[in-house]
Amino acid sequence: MPQLAPAVATTPHSGIRTMVGNVARHGSAISLVFGEPDFLTPSHIIDAAHAAARGGRTKYAPSAGFLDLREAIADKLRVRNGVTASAREVIVTTGGTGGLFTSLLLLVQPGDEVLLPDPGWSNYAAITHVLGAVNAFYPLRYRDGRPHIDFDLLERTVTARTRVLLVNSPGNPTGAMFDEATLGELARFAERHDLWIVSDECYDEIVFSEPHVSMAAVADRSRVISVFTFSKTYAMTGWRVGYVVAPPAVAEAIERAQEPVVSCASSVSQAAAEAALRGPQDVVATMRELFRERLVLAQGVLRDGGVAFIPPQGAFYVMVDITRTKMTSWDFATRLLDEHGVGVVPGKAFGEGGEGYVRISTATSPDLLTAGVERLVAAVNEWSTDAMASLPAEGS
Ligand code: PLP
Repeated sequence: MPQLAPAVATTPHSGIRTMVGNVARHGSAISLVFGEPDFLTPSHIIDAAHAAARGGRTKYAPSAGFLDLREAIADKLRVRNGVTASAREVIVTTGGTGGLFTSLLLLVQPGDEVLLPDPGWSNYAAITHVLGAVNAFYPLRYRDGRPHIDFDLLERTVTARTRVLLVNSPGNPTGAMFDEATLGELARFAERHDLWIVSDECYDEIVFSEPHVSMAAVADRSRVISVFTFSKTYAMTGWRVGYVVAPPAVAEAIERAQEPVVSCASSVSQAAAEAALRGPQDVVATMRELFRERLVLAQGVLRDGGVAFIPPQGAFYVMVDITRTKMTSWDFATRLLDEHGVGVVPGKAFGEGGEGYVRISTATSPDLLTAGVERLVAAVNEWSTDAMASLPAEGS
């Protein structure tokens, strides 16, 4: 066989997708693995896509996306994100993933360094791996229930080769959301070191305790590329449509960068996305409320069972602390699936900083969620007792 390009052939497989496969092979497990809303796309959005397809929107779209959609996005950014951008500064992408890939494609060369959150969404490291960039991680810790960044450590991590600071708020897998002060500090750090900021805001509308703040509303916009998606807010993961917002020259370059990768985002999906933005927004509020109820439910079961977790401010995940079982997160997740029939994602799949945790997605029905978290709690308690029993007796 002729040789494969090593950088791509050795791309790490997503731990999330590995667990999805394991759960499917198990057959009857409760899955708390996938980070996608279990709701169907609201019907008025599906109707709009149907009408668009019937009306002939079945051809290629412009590389940057249809102007009507880009204008609707610019309106949304102004009203909901406090970001003033023209339609020219908006490029429609194939989901947030497409936007992240083409943005990083534009910003880094082989050997350049990218600062990624740890724990952080596994696709970031996979994208930088494909591009030949070097990952440098900044730990995301918690203090008094709030996400905390050690800026001294961040200063020590940056080098002359660092090009990009990637920020994800609300974040996957922790649900961590940064307040305006922290975003401002991150922005000043990026300015001091002349870094690009790629701000992944794919969960911008799935927030519970306080309003989401956009990096582009806080930082000098000339160095910020913001990435959004329709996937989570409107339960549209399969439509593969998202967008990036960037200064005009950068937006134009992203438009060019995505041509050889995907040509353009799907025309029918863009019609659906426009209907999502221009149509009734009560569907977003309804889904957000259901996500909130499920998070409260899952946290209640964990608390009642005496199992610690990281309290999220947004998204639909909870990182559950399994350190007292003394098991690695991969061993724990594998055994949990085998013995208790519950699928979760090992924290290590999100980086070293995720070790000692497993991630549950609460985007599933309350009944399944309750049953799944109860089994998880039973496993943590049972295996912690085993771990205690295996400790050598005092004095021995
Ligand atoms: N960013 C984060 C943090 C995510 O968790 C995801 C999906 O899980 C995405 C971006 C991309 O989602 P999509 O490509 O469906 O827009």
